Amino acid sequence: MQEQLAGAGEVLALDLGGTKIAGAVVRRDGTITARSQAPTPAREGSAAIIAAMAGVVQQLRGACSAQPAGLGIGAAGVIDPETAKVVSATDTLAGWAGTDMAAELGRLTGLAVRAVNDVHAHGLGEARFGAGRGTGQMMLLAIGTGIGGAYLHGGQLVTGFHHVAGHMGHIDSAYATGLECSCGRTGHVEAIAAGPAIHRHYQRLAGNPKVRDTQAVTALAEAGDALAYRAVHTGGLAAGAAAGSLANVLDPQKIVIAGGMAGAGKIWWEGLREGFAASAIDLVRGTALEPARLGTDAALIGAASLFWPQD
Ligand SMILES: [Zn+2]
Repeated sequence: MQEQLAGAGEVLALDLGGTKIAGAVVRRDGTITARSQAPTPAREGSAAIIAAMAGVVQQLRGACSAQPAGLGIGAAGVIDPETAKVVSATDTLAGWAGTDMAAELGRLTGLAVRAVNDVHAHGLGEARFGAGRGTGQMMLLAIGTGIGGAYLHGGQLVTGFHHVAGHMGHIDSAYATGLECSCGRTGHVEAIAAGPAIHRHYQRLAGNPKVRDTQAVTALAEAGDALAYRAVHTGGLAAGAAAGSLANVLDPQKIVIAGGMAGAGKIWWEGLREGFAASAIDLVRGTALEPARLGTDAALIGAASLFWPQD
């Protein structure tokens, strides 16, 4: 019976972030056939978040062609993939740490529940259905509001002993010396290379205070503004150097770049490739660096794929 259900091919997927819960019905070939979403009640505690997640599942039930094989989740926080429990979480989601998603959502939805961290889900999606398809060893580097990532070995996520693996924003960077990081330490690459960090860098360089955000800095850089160019290029360099350092350690077949900065344009990508070439040792210097293909759908598709054997 279980095999037959899995054969129907559809999985319900949720991507739980700090501001919204995205949901989808995902088919075995990675295509999304229905979507729904709800705001995350981030300040209201674990029970409210679980109820909101169950609400999105309920909205999607009617769009399934048969009983779905399960509920796959990519969730904010440190998630134990074996148990779907939230090992720890930041204050972004009040009371989220300790939540047992398998037990609580299983009870509310009647579905088998599997879960991983949202960035890990993103990596799974790109590896199995996106830019990393066909590569067993892929590293995802997601550079947006923060910096995170995932590493897959033999098609499987490497989540580490504490399930914390992939916090790639929190490695030391020569470009970030003395700069405060979101983790409370100083000198981490996120402090110079994440999207908001590039805007802050531009302002530190005495840029125009009326330039409000990173997108505006990037547009200025493309238009030839020297300070904006420096901020964007340095962000790319620092991210590239971090990718090079990680490639020296992990030796992935392909590095997939995701997150808002991946769409930041030529100057940023030039910096990224330059930083990578400077840091990567000769044997890994030719490793492919490619933009992600699935956008934010990657986390939904990756979460759904927790129910499918590896391609
Ligand atoms: Zn940090």
